[in-house]
Amino acid sequence: MSQAAAAPAKLLPLLSERHVDPHAYPDGVAFLDGQYLPMSQAKISVLDWGFLHSDATYDTVHVWDGRFFRLDLHLDRFFGGLEKLRMTIPFDRAGVAEILHNCVALSGHRAAYVEMLCTRGASPTFSRDPRQAINRFMAFAVPFGSVANAEQLRSGLKVAISDKVRIPPVSIDPSIKNYHWLDLVRGLYDAYDRGADTALILDFNGNVAEGPGFNVFCVKDDKLSTPAVGVLPGITRRTVFDLCGEAGLSAFAADVGVAALKTADEVFITSTAGGVMPVTTIDGAPIADGKVGPITERLMALYWKRHDDPAWSSAVRYP
Ligand code: PLP
Repeated sequence: MSQAAAAPAKLLPLLSERHVDPHAYPDGVAFLDGQYLPMSQAKISVLDWGFLHSDATYDTVHVWDGRFFRLDLHLDRFFGGLEKLRMTIPFDRAGVAEILHNCVALSGHRAAYVEMLCTRGASPTFSRDPRQAINRFMAFAVPFGSVANAEQLRSGLKVAISDKVRIPPVSIDPSIKNYHWLDLVRGLYDAYDRGADTALILDFNGNVAEGPGFNVFCVKDDKLSTPAVGVLPGITRRTVFDLCGEAGLSAFAADVGVAALKTADEVFITSTAGGVMPVTTIDGAPIADGKVGPITERLMALYWKRHDDPAWSSAVRYP
């Protein structure tokens, strides 16, 4: 047997020594190449530009208590990204919505993280011309996951501000939801090194931008602000603006400096993966008295309360 053929067999014990099952996947259902599959069977070519060049766009919507939350807004953002990246898929909005419904219904999950994505795909000749690639649409539903665990939701996240700079909007339009995450992941490691739960990274002017999978808000004198530029226009961020409008709270998008964040009365982050989540420590120092603030608590409650409002949510059609 050649050296090369023997190598994989040698690697397997190493993985099992680490108690890692390389074939384990979260329980869920994916849609890929026209078929519904268990997550463990949903695989793509290593030649796909989504993988090789991060040439892809995606969106994530959640299902809570059997209902999609603000699915229309997620579809708007996804189709906007496709258009800006000049990708085409063989489904319209209703077609994508139906596939997402089917993934969730087949998975049986009543609380799910549901992703729709499109990669540039690959070309049969390995051409370097993106116009020759056949775009690939996929979707999947797995169990709901949150940026913050139950304890962090109760007492607040510890955040570290990394000096990593978010990819600037002149390079990548952040309204195209994308997988350019190396800045965010490096920021996350900075945060772990400093004993924090998660990270915020900076924009090109040194102001606060966003974190790995979330936007940030600060509250000062009952007024809310969130970074205006260089960030994904999050649907949860938009939902906070909508809830503030209804509740008579002032909320605006503006530059948020590091000092302003650290001296805020309250800080919270927002994501489809977890909703409105409190932050009570930044760079090891408490925000105000270090407790979850009243406006954050109020918005957390309002956010989840709206999940069964038919104006903002739609029932999954389970079999
Ligand atoms: N910022 C980034 C970089 C994200 O990836 C996400 C979500 O994945 C968000 C912000 C929050 O967006 P949303 O509220 O739409 O989930």
